[in-house]
Amino acid sequence: MPDSPGRPLTPVPPDGMEMLFFYKCPRCERHVPVPSPTEPKMIRCDNCQLSFPIIPIDEHGLHYIRIMLAGGQAAADPDFF
Ligand SMILES: [Zn+2]
Repeated sequence: MPDSPGRPLTPVPPDGMEMLFFYKCPRCERHVPVPSPTEPKMIRCDNCQLSFPIIPIDEHGLHYIRIMLAGGQAAADPDFF
């Protein structure tokens, strides 16, 4: 049921998750964030604009963590329930 206007909203729990991985730029050493890179690809450093190839992450490990945390829902702070 949608909340009616004017009524205070109930805090919403997480309903999905993404893991952020960091890759160090070979030129300026900035840690470039990449969300769940499961495919080999080129990324661009947002500091020096260099494009460089990255080694992807193993999808199985990511899948395991997603299951463990029920897609983010099990990660919610239990004090809020
Ligand atoms: Zn850079």
